[in-house]
Amino acid sequence: MSGEDLGADFFVRLRADLLIIGDSVLTDRHHASNGNYDPRDPQNQIGGLIPSFSLSGWLRHGMERVVQEHGATACHPGESNANFKKDGVYTRDLDAGYHEKGTCLDNDKECVILDLFGGFDDRPGKVMRRPVKFSPVRSGVDYTRGQAEGHYRRLNRNIVSRNEEDGRQPLRNLEVDAVANLDGCWQLVFRETKPEFIGLLAEAVEYLDTYQTDFMHQLGGARNFGGGIIDCALINPLYETHEFRCVFDRSKRATTAMQAKDKEWAEECLPKFRTALRERIEADR
Ligand SMILES: [Zn+2]
Repeated sequence: MSGEDLGADFFVRLRADLLIIGDSVLTDRHHASNGNYDPRDPQNQIGGLIPSFSLSGWLRHGMERVVQEHGATACHPGESNANFKKDGVYTRDLDAGYHEKGTCLDNDKECVILDLFGGFDDRPGKVMRRPVKFSPVRSGVDYTRGQAEGHYRRLNRNIVSRNEEDGRQPLRNLEVDAVANLDGCWQLVFRETKPEFIGLLAEAVEYLDTYQTDFMHQLGGARNFGGGIIDCALINPLYETHEFRCVFDRSKRATTAMQAKDKEWAEECLPKFRTALRERIEADR
């Protein structure tokens, strides 16, 4: 099986109890508000979009780790000629398993990370990362379009006074957008489905799932408070649409056909894509 047989669309299942992406969650609350909307009301039926920037950085970091575990260096996400505020840190990154972005480029060939993410010399990356649309109403979630069930809340954090006589009076109030009980999937579209891309995606998702409680591999803010611990898995690309939907239906179990496809994926397909990844990383050196 070549990568092209599987088409361009791949889905990563994402589950998180709490996700805080700064203030960049886009909500559709304006539809329902009519000026008297209370973002803390649990009855709100608002949904929104989780932009893909943070998700993309999270995935990329996982992929960089995989490349490094294969004994190679990964492309640094920052331009080498950028005026980094922390120049010493950039240099230290280069010592710790990275090469300068773009130095891998040679006769129109680049390392697998640059190939996927692009961004050097205006090169487009070959993986398009879509935002995740979420909704609290499960019946309205179309998983086949990379959507998720998720509950938007606006959280308040108070920084309180430490003076005894103030009685923990708030000094400052901070509001953050949060998505709770997220369960759905993230759609990735390859502009060109190379077998090594699939191998890298599968290995990175596995890595991120294994290290989901590591501070470095949690996603977004509030990580000290358990935010951004992501249960993730690549959804079997061999599934047909009805099988794909079955993954998210708590009333259904995997059918015999699905179990057979899981076996086929794990034992026949994935090893080939992993081999393609190993060969690509070797060729990139
Ligand atoms: Zn590179």
